[in-house]
Amino acid sequence: MICPRCHAEFRPGFTVCSDCGIALVEELDEAAVAVIEEEAGGLEPFHETGSSDELAAILEAFEEHGVAYVVQAGTALSLLSSDVDPGSLPEEWQARLLVVGAHRARAREILRELRRQALDASAASRGGGDRTPL
Ligand SMILES: [Zn+2]
Repeated sequence: MICPRCHAEFRPGFTVCSDCGIALVEELDEAAVAVIEEEAGGLEPFHETGSSDELAAILEAFEEHGVAYVVQAGTALSLLSSDVDPGSLPEEWQARLLVVGAHRARAREILRELRRQALDASAASRGGGDRTPL
């Protein structure tokens, strides 16, 4: 599987590029690449999340660090990138974050930092032992 944006190769079973957050393709064909670049128009798909809390934390950090972004969110997000049977909608709420290409490196730094903080926080909250809530 190959990412049509960054051209990274993934083992079979992977469906989304871990860097770009976009769907992998089996083969790079120019049409697929062109469609993605046209859709993006200076914006690059950056991250997808089903968590509004995570989204809020990312956006707050982006604004603090001057990363320009666009959010697409809703329960019919897949309609934007493919023909979906409307009978299968609504889907679970999902947000897709796009950033301006020039801000991408900064955006990745921010996301990495947020994930590190989240790990620290969950490690700290487990400090009291493994009690199972009833
Ligand atoms: Zn990629």
